Amino acid sequence: MLLPARQMPILLLLLPLILIPVSLVESRATVEQPAGEQLSSFWLRQAQDSLRERLARFKDSITDVRRAKNVVLLMGDGLSLTTLTAARILKGQRSGGRGEEARLAVERFPFAGLTKTYCVDEQTPDSACTATAYLGGVKTQGGTVGQSASGERVDSVIQWAQRAGKATGVVTTTRLTDASPAGAYAHVRRRGEELEIARQLVEEEPGRSLEVILGGGFGKFAGERRDGKDLLAQWRQSNPKGCLSRSLKELRNCSGATGKLLGLFSDNHMSYHLAASKDQPRLSEMAVAAIEKLERKSQESGDGSGYFVFIEGGRIDHGHHETRVGYALDEMLELDAAVEAVLKMIDPRETLVVFTADHSHTLSMAGYAKRGTSILGMDDHQKDLNGVPYSTLNYAIGKWQSLDKEGRRESPSKTLSPTSYTPSYISGRKGVHSGEDVAVFAMGPQSHLFGGIMEQNLLPHLMGYAACLGRGVTLCNRNQDAKPVPL
Ligand SMILES: [Zn+2]
Repeated sequence: MLLPARQMPILLLLLPLILIPVSLVESRATVEQPAGEQLSSFWLRQAQDSLRERLARFKDSITDVRRAKNVVLLMGDGLSLTTLTAARILKGQRSGGRGEEARLAVERFPFAGLTKTYCVDEQTPDSACTATAYLGGVKTQGGTVGQSASGERVDSVIQWAQRAGKATGVVTTTRLTDASPAGAYAHVRRRGEELEIARQLVEEEPGRSLEVILGGGFGKFAGERRDGKDLLAQWRQSNPKGCLSRSLKELRNCSGATGKLLGLFSDNHMSYHLAASKDQPRLSEMAVAAIEKLERKSQESGDGSGYFVFIEGGRIDHGHHETRVGYALDEMLELDAAVEAVLKMIDPRETLVVFTADHSHTLSMAGYAKRGTSILGMDDHQKDLNGVPYSTLNYAIGKWQSLDKEGRRESPSKTLSPTSYTPSYISGRKGVHSGEDVAVFAMGPQSHLFGGIMEQNLLPHLMGYAACLGRGVTLCNRNQDAKPVPL
């Protein structure tokens, strides 16, 4: 039915009011991902273009032609920039200083940049899609490990390294089947399929060729299985010279072993360092055992082909999820000790060391606390509008707010301790990830490429370039201009 002409202007005026609510409701649904992002080829091409851009940027100014024989990738799960700063202060305060002036081991790295962590379907990502990015070079959907969003298999840089003849290892403080370590060797649609992930680690490539596997999650290999498989017995059978350890003492006893190294130090995640028994190796001890083994294996190969090791401080994230910042910071300092130990063992002229995080957390460092204020405590002079003091460290979302019985905020000063819950602004079941960029630091051959802001899936391409791994542009083939990138 046609409207009378005199009603048309009124309708035109009302049109925006009619359309606005509809467009708001639909805004989520209508922001569709370009179809290309579902495919590996989209991200691989994009990363290779970005790598070429970087190479062109440094063409006339950087003369580093050193090839990385070894690569050490260290990763702090949930390691936000605030976590780095707060852990640095805690490190300084633990050694009797005011704290702010202390230095983390990673501060010796000459190059730093930021990575963008979003995934194909998530503004704020999880550890599965980010692992697929920083280990496989492909962004995927949340919860997916080692596959593109359309389900294609994505090989990790660990696999690239094995194809290049390098010895490889994976070290973590979480279950070995958790999303981050799984990104090194597994291919599953959902990260929760941990029994399948464990099977892939023992039965399939590149897991079965890993020289070093150290972490937690014993149950996924034996106790919790219902398929009748004893994956540890299988591993022993395939590796008659292999050394299986379940404690620090046994790990030390494995140091002379000629075969592969498998360590499962807990049924579940390894204990927080603050709560661990002396039988549990520290992350730095696992890192040292791994590099000693990989170095020896590389030398045995005759041509010293080198190694690639992925070392994760995985429980920083868990401390943040519990909103117990004391645990998160202590786990970060365990990673710091591991970096320190690694730097003592490697030759930076031939080893590329990269340190990064998978995603951020909502920890904030708020107010104007005076120099030297305990980072796990508070400066009583920093007060809200009601005159109630607040702690320096808070989470945006968490399960503890310092409220009294009437629901009024009270000072958390009496309850704060190195292991207590940390206040949050918004009440939630647990702490949540946050979506801002995370840091990446690099030292060694080609480390100048790790600067500025980059997509997270560029990282394996940069490591691949430096160590001549993978099918893209590398230091070894960069002059073959016509070389197509088989994606
Ligand atoms: Zn998490």
